[in-house]
Amino acid sequence: MTLAVIIPVYNEAKAIQKNFDTISSTFLEDQISCKYIIVDDGSSDSTWIEICAITNKYPHVSAIRFARNFGKEMALCAGIDYIEADRYLIMDSDLQHPPKYVKDMITLMDTQKVNIVHGIKKTRGKEKPLYKLLANSFYKILKNTTDLQLENSSDFKLLDHQVANAIRQFQESNLFFRGIVDWVGFTSATYAFEVDERIYGTSSFSTFKLIKLAINSVLSYTSKPLYLTIFSGIIFFLFSILLGLQTLANYFLGHAVSGFSTVILLLLFIGSMIMLSLGIIGLYIARIYDEVKQRPRYIVSNHIQCKKYNKRL
Ligand code: UDP
Ligand code: MG
Repeated sequence: MTLAVIIPVYNEAKAIQKNFDTISSTFLEDQISCKYIIVDDGSSDSTWIEICAITNKYPHVSAIRFARNFGKEMALCAGIDYIEADRYLIMDSDLQHPPKYVKDMITLMDTQKVNIVHGIKKTRGKEKPLYKLLANSFYKILKNTTDLQLENSSDFKLLDHQVANAIRQFQESNLFFRGIVDWVGFTSATYAFEVDERIYGTSSFSTFKLIKLAINSVLSYTSKPLYLTIFSGIIFFLFSILLGLQTLANYFLGHAVSGFSTVILLLLFIGSMIMLSLGIIGLYIARIYDEVKQRPRYIVSNHIQCKKYNKRL
């Protein structure tokens, strides 16, 4: 059984060498033989130089570099596209997905004979309260609208080649990796792990980037928010029948009073509902536009093949 480890990296020049040494030595100790692919997601610092140094030091590491930052989701897809193995492990480069658990994950896959092992966060580590609140409410909304249960889920996953082949068939330019791993089905098991502290650097996901990711993941997974507009339309229609009857009754009974504030309130309310609905529809149209263009999902500017597996070298 060959194992390919896919590591997305973005602006981690200071940490990547040390982190990779830790990952590699842990796997050696645990007697896990594998090859690696490091995906530089268009870092703006000297990450690529560090990655080149790693590929020189370790012969079983290959690397690709994106021409610009395409996001972690695309980095994971590229990793799967560029490497072949029987199994694929996806892990962060910042050691927050501790390599010491990988051995157990592999054993779990073997004993339970499943296609996917999902790493589930036991606790969410040290996170800012705002982040925690946002993450929790996002997962609640997602669970209610799409039945996707992503609470405490992570990108720390072990996949077999069937799952990887299924993922390779996706051509969407906006995809949410955890969402599609859930979507493709197959059998799965979960492995609870303790998130380690980030030792070097800070998370590259700003609050804004996270909100974008949250919206993106809902939109790319489901069209249910569109039903909200129909739903609110129906409620307004019922409401307008009631109010219409009352207005007519007042008119014919001869006491149609000025009622100016009601008109203003209604206008404001209905106006904002219409704008909101248009906004939701607009978001989907934007995504249709993105997909119709059929642009490449990512652009690779450099590719270093691992020396050990490349027969030409
Ligand atoms: N990452 C990436 N592209 C990005 C942002 C992050 O490839 O645009 C990588 C990053 O280098 C790390 C992993 O994704 O290996 C997780 O990122 P981070 O630790 O910043 O996120 P968090 O742990 O806060 O979810
Ligand atoms: Mg992290």
